[in-house]
Amino acid sequence: MADTEANEAVLEQAYALAKTYLRSLPARRVGATGSLDELRAGAAKALTEEGVDASEVIADLDELAQAGVIASAGPRYFGFVIGGSYPVALGADWLVSAWDQNPGIYATSPFAAVVEEAAARYVIELLRLPQQSTVGFTTGCQMANFTALAAARHKVLADAGWDVESEGLHGAPAVNVVMSAEAHVTIHTALRYLGLGVRHARQVATDAQGRMITAELQNTLQQCSGPTIVYAQAGNVNTGAFDPIDEIAALTHARGAWLHIDGAFGLWARASKQHAHLARGAEQADSWATDAHKWLNVPYDCGIVIVKHASAHRQTMAVRAAYLEHAAHAERDAFEYVPEFSRRGRSIPVYATLRHLGHRGVADLVERCCAHARQFAAVLALEPGIEILNDVVLNQVLVRFRDADAATREVITLVQRDGTCWLGGTTWHGKAAMRISVSNWSTTETDVRRSTEAIVAAHRSCR
Ligand SMILES: *Cc1c(COP(=O)(O)O)cnc(C)c1O
Repeated sequence: MADTEANEAVLEQAYALAKTYLRSLPARRVGATGSLDELRAGAAKALTEEGVDASEVIADLDELAQAGVIASAGPRYFGFVIGGSYPVALGADWLVSAWDQNPGIYATSPFAAVVEEAAARYVIELLRLPQQSTVGFTTGCQMANFTALAAARHKVLADAGWDVESEGLHGAPAVNVVMSAEAHVTIHTALRYLGLGVRHARQVATDAQGRMITAELQNTLQQCSGPTIVYAQAGNVNTGAFDPIDEIAALTHARGAWLHIDGAFGLWARASKQHAHLARGAEQADSWATDAHKWLNVPYDCGIVIVKHASAHRQTMAVRAAYLEHAAHAERDAFEYVPEFSRRGRSIPVYATLRHLGHRGVADLVERCCAHARQFAAVLALEPGIEILNDVVLNQVLVRFRDADAATREVITLVQRDGTCWLGGTTWHGKAAMRISVSNWSTTETDVRRSTEAIVAAHRSCR
């Protein structure tokens, strides 16, 4: 146990393997090479009576990873919306594991508590949200959406004279949930967790880019009486389009409703002077959800929930007597802002990354990724038979081939098989499309050029 040298040897081995992997990222094939059966067989080693030497376990894991990882942290992965890890973020994350703090309460880690407090201030400053807002660091944007909607549920029901934390929803006034027809799927999950149900949510029609139509919202709101929560989107997961947030905020607040904004990646546009106009008015919302593990490029996992009404945030999440106003004290206990009690110090890599990048660095990251997205669209549009389906306002590009679902799906398969880059498919307004998301800090113009060449070659070889 106390054999320091043997313990450190395992860490040295892991460090060496990590360095080799990271060096391989820019050049390695993006997709996995092992089949499901091979990978399962590699993982399903018998659990032995005596255990296995630590260095052998680490070596085996690395070997399996070589066959089964997706190089999604690398520069030519454009699938879903997935970021990589800045070196400063990864280094801080390694230390988080070494320090092994429980940042849930101040008493278990004064260090993690004050770093998290500072990280929360950085986020509010960068995204230009109201100063009094409280912040929680969740596993991802799904849980950030859940937490924000829990605070919303608390406040709209409290305004109607109902204490949902103590009474639950038994006999409660009905809560109207109004959202865009293009709402991200995780909102449905959050509504399920909150007992608000999915079926009763009112869907507001969207335009060709997936933006909520405000006249439709106005009609819907006129049909809602009583407690109401409106959900808007900063960054549609397909097109990158933004709901007209300033108009939505005016309509929502005229009704005394709560406005929540899901800006998993799009909210970061506010850090760039060039793109901030897209999320104009977002500061008028009551709550926001975003991710750090997507566009900010910290390692998984880290989402961020921000709530303008501290008391609603704390009363719905605090572990101690949720129905009481929290006793004033100087220390910040992180568990008051997230669903978890014990958890990882995931705000520490956020702190490290934001301090390292500064305002200019975050703006550069956003602007560079958006410029790469425009480069993708401009180059691909030159090829006869390739069509760009969306207005490329952010980092997302939708591409269709020969105006046919079959050809589009075939090109996606061919590109994935080629391995130069990786991107996935989606369905946009009934049509199959290839979706490109540029979210990685390390992607260069050369990566985009190599990727467009691979896509065009796949298109030309498609039947
Ligand atoms: C990715 C995403 C989510 C979910 O975030 P996770 O971090 O995967 O939980 C929610 N909303 C939008 C718009 C997203 O893009």
